[in-house]
Amino acid sequence: MVENLVIIGSGPAGYTAAIYAGRAQLQPLVFEGFSAGGVPGGQLMTTTEVENFPGFAKGISGPQLMKEMRQQALRWGANLITEDVVKVDFRQYPFIVRANEKEVRTFGVIICTGATAKRLHILGEDEFWNNGISACAICDGASPLFLNAEVAVVGGGDSAAEEALYLTKYATKVHLLVRREQLRASKTMQERLFAHPQIKIHWHSIPIAAYGDEVLQEVKVQNAIAQEVWQLPVNGLFYAIGHTPNTQLFQGQIALDARGYIETRGKSTATNIEGVWAAGDVQDSYYRQAITAAGTGCMAALEAERWLSERKSLRFLSAA
Ligand SMILES: Cc1cc2nc3c(=O)[nH]c(=O)nc-3n(C[C@H](O)[C@H](O)[C@H](O)COP(=O)(O)OP(=O)(O)OC[C@H]3O[C@@H](n4cnc5c(N)ncnc54)[C@H](O)[C@@H]3O)c2cc1C
Repeated sequence: MVENLVIIGSGPAGYTAAIYAGRAQLQPLVFEGFSAGGVPGGQLMTTTEVENFPGFAKGISGPQLMKEMRQQALRWGANLITEDVVKVDFRQYPFIVRANEKEVRTFGVIICTGATAKRLHILGEDEFWNNGISACAICDGASPLFLNAEVAVVGGGDSAAEEALYLTKYATKVHLLVRREQLRASKTMQERLFAHPQIKIHWHSIPIAAYGDEVLQEVKVQNAIAQEVWQLPVNGLFYAIGHTPNTQLFQGQIALDARGYIETRGKSTATNIEGVWAAGDVQDSYYRQAITAAGTGCMAALEAERWLSERKSLRFLSAA
């Protein structure tokens, strides 16, 4: 039996694609993942409150939001399998998707394997994750924890610059901890950083430990040259040291950009392989939000439905 559509990944992109494909009667098969590239439910399973997903005026916890999306996908007939995909073969058609215990052939694939925010694994990081330490300023910056407080951002690229500038809306002072003596951020971004009265840049600075009492209160910073250690009293520590797209599985099978993100064509979610689409953070290094992941999941399902219908390669059509 050949599946109509396989969706790989169960973050906001994967479940949204499943909801739309299910409602289009494609009976999608979703490999939710197990431990590769995160957990079933995706990155929001690792956060507490999500305050910016439309429809939840009072906010909603990340795990609860993902539970609701999962239920909605099930309601529309998605077949969910909690396994990691370990191999794909897009060179033959129907495509082959192999998970740990199951191998299927499919007329179409939507890749929604997301990305993993890089972490520093410093002392105290697990204790203060979501209680002062975060990998997303846009998601967490407006939290009362950081309002009128001092915070730190780690990184030297455009993301770090953007996050530092964004946080000045809430924090009284933003300390930018930069490992080297220069920034990788664009010239324009650098100028904005240097000119901002609330931003202080600390060169050769690496955070090595986090301390506090229930919430973060202080970060221990090491000078990379002199090796001396100093204390920085801050309520927030934001990692802006990059993300790793979960695309190792697709290397050699599909076009990836220089950083490993899946390349999609123009405004669509189409990849360079006909019949394979990509949605969410796996193809987006810029917005990286639950709502944009869900939006592109929707786009991918609509594009898949139209493409499959035109080819009349649907299982339920072939059976008719
Ligand atoms: C701590 C934190 C807090 C955040 N807070 C917010 C917020 O408040 N608001 C907001 O809009 N955004 C927030 N974000 C960003 C948001 O979580 C992401 O933009 C969004 O989850 C991306 O969705 P996605 O579906 O593309 O991928 P992900 O959520 O990354 O999900 C990827 C999925 O793919 C699966 N997978 C990976 N590899 C495989 C494989 N080989 N086989 C099968 N499955 C696989 C994983 O199990 C997972 O289910 C936050 C991110 C983090 C890390």
